[in-house]
Amino acid sequence: MSWSGWFDIGAPAGGFAAGPATISRNKDVCNVYVRGNDNALWQRPYYNNQWYPWARHNDGGVLSSEPALGSMGPDHEHVFVRGTDGNVYQKYWTAAGGWSGWFDIGAPAGGFAAGPATISRNKDVCNVYVRGNDNALWQRPYYNNQWYPWARHNDGGVLSSEPALGSMGPDHEHVFVRGTDGNVYQKYWQFTPEPVGDVSFAVSECAFGWTARYHQSGTHVTIRIQLNPDMGITAETMSTLRTTWRNGILATWANRFDCRATNGGRQGLTFDVQWVTSNAHHVVRVRPGPDRSNMTLWDTSDAGNVVAHEFGHMLGHPDEYADATCPSRNPVGTGTVMDDNTETVARLYNRICAFHGGGHTPIAGAAPEPDENAPELESRMLIDNLKPAPRAQILNHLRAIADAEEVADGAADAEVTFELSGGAPGERYAYRLGVSADGSAHRRVVDELRATVAVGEPLADGGDDVAAMVERDLVTRVFAAARDTGLLGDEAPAFPQQGAELVPDSMIAVITVRDGNAFRRIWVPAGEQADASVVFGAEAADVPLDTPMQLPAESVQALQPLLDALRAVEETL
Ligand SMILES: [Zn+2]
Repeated sequence: MSWSGWFDIGAPAGGFAAGPATISRNKDVCNVYVRGNDNALWQRPYYNNQWYPWARHNDGGVLSSEPALGSMGPDHEHVFVRGTDGNVYQKYWTAAGGWSGWFDIGAPAGGFAAGPATISRNKDVCNVYVRGNDNALWQRPYYNNQWYPWARHNDGGVLSSEPALGSMGPDHEHVFVRGTDGNVYQKYWQFTPEPVGDVSFAVSECAFGWTARYHQSGTHVTIRIQLNPDMGITAETMSTLRTTWRNGILATWANRFDCRATNGGRQGLTFDVQWVTSNAHHVVRVRPGPDRSNMTLWDTSDAGNVVAHEFGHMLGHPDEYADATCPSRNPVGTGTVMDDNTETVARLYNRICAFHGGGHTPIAGAAPEPDENAPELESRMLIDNLKPAPRAQILNHLRAIADAEEVADGAADAEVTFELSGGAPGERYAYRLGVSADGSAHRRVVDELRATVAVGEPLADGGDDVAAMVERDLVTRVFAAARDTGLLGDEAPAFPQQGAELVPDSMIAVITVRDGNAFRRIWVPAGEQADASVVFGAEAADVPLDTPMQLPAESVQALQPLLDALRAVEETL
């Protein structure tokens, strides 16, 4: 046994960037991948004892990092890259189905540096790791046939390189990084059958970012919650609420499913909440209701099921209701506690049964999973993720609308929208104002706390719809303002968006420019005008459009021409 010499195995036509990546999914196959100088994925396969030519993945994917490869078994391999929008994208190959298209699997809140890394320690588990822009290690796990949210390793580690992954067996994985002192650091994960202790991990979904915290002892989970009532809410009221809310949480979560061990043994999953005045996992403000609640802001009208939904966020679960401001959310419409405050399902317990990510031994399953026809991932594409030629074509089309005196070709498919949404299920507020390049405009309000609103005929679902045609010069003004705000620029506008933690069900405002299936969007946190706890800036913020919501003063200033133009559209409806 000895090393061979070096063999030249060539390069794609046009060359490639940085270095190659490789995977062997079984002993007879090896694939080498590179990011071509055309930013496409290129592959050179080896099988049947010979190399085959370099081949380009002609799937529209535009890479902005080198590929990372992994395999979950002899008939599977997958590749992860950074897309031009800063998210991680995945495509996979199976013996049965060949290559899939690209899937957007998102990014940690705050984004990440360079490219992703991945490892599968066994056929059921895959983990993707990145170095966050906060220089912490972030991880997105896949097990029990689903992706879980991005989570941050809150262990004080500061990375000064991308992570490198490895596994020494089905119950082990480890990660190596460069530390700030120039040394290599390692951390490892090993399956532990009976966890006891506090669990804490950061979660990131859509515009929202928060930290899940709870205590787990085997199959018993406790969350310590500190309730801080507003002045004027009596001790007697709080006493009643504590009983109502604890009952709601236990009724929804506890004794519904078992964990099943590899030896067939089952143990029921139990939950409790402790109302504490210090050392809380989560601190919640309680205000007079009814009002719109989120994970850390409840009100005296909240029923037990609303609080059970927020309890789910504290366990690390994202929302599962459809929200126009989160078009890539998946799954949605699941009929679970995270959708409509009702049922829990087995998968919501997987993380707890998997004992912090073990994944392969115990699974929940005392009751069958309801049918979930999870919709396809949103087919809309961020403009910045398109290849240069179609991206330029779309931006030119949108800019032409901003200059046009006549209705442009394809105008009905180009649209500027302003959306606001927030609140727990059952209390949600959703507002949408849209104007198309052909002059058609619509306005829709759904307010689950009010039976009717001021405009139009109330809809059966508590919303109002208005549609009309607006003047050409007003359409031009809206698109021109979008251009002036930077939304039609060659690069996506550097608008302050992410940053501070924004807990689930918080109110956000989103402005979207769309041409066909391609869109650009910016979002900012929004609040209710009467909510004194929401402080966005030194000055009183303007009220955008004819809604009860409030935007940060600095955002209003940056968006003023566009908000003014949209307000003018709104006045015609
Ligand atoms: Zn929620």
